Amino acid sequence: METNQSSWRINASCRDADPDGLFVRGAEQNRAKAVCMGCPVRTECLAEALDGRINFGVWGGMTERERRALLRRRPDVVSWAELLEAAKRDAEERVEVG
Ligand code: SF4
Repeated sequence: METNQSSWRINASCRDADPDGLFVRGAEQNRAKAVCMGCPVRTECLAEALDGRINFGVWGGMTERERRALLRRRPDVVSWAELLEAAKRDAEERVEVG
């Protein structure tokens, strides 16, 4: 069953890519991260990986190692989905105000 939480997947830039491409190591991770940089659902993807403590692959432009470091730095965050969504809204408002 499709949940609201994962309905963003339909707009994923990597949707038609080889899934193995996101579960790579070393320098190849930079190539995977580059795909994420232009992805319209990067925030949702990253939030799902952080909230779900997914510890493999590149999600939302971050490797598992980078996500682990972020989770260690911010143990206070209860919902990454809410935090990242709020940050995204703030950034969009700043652009509108100019
Ligand atoms: S952010 Fe990256 S891993 Fe996540 S959906 Fe977009 S392209 Fe795929």
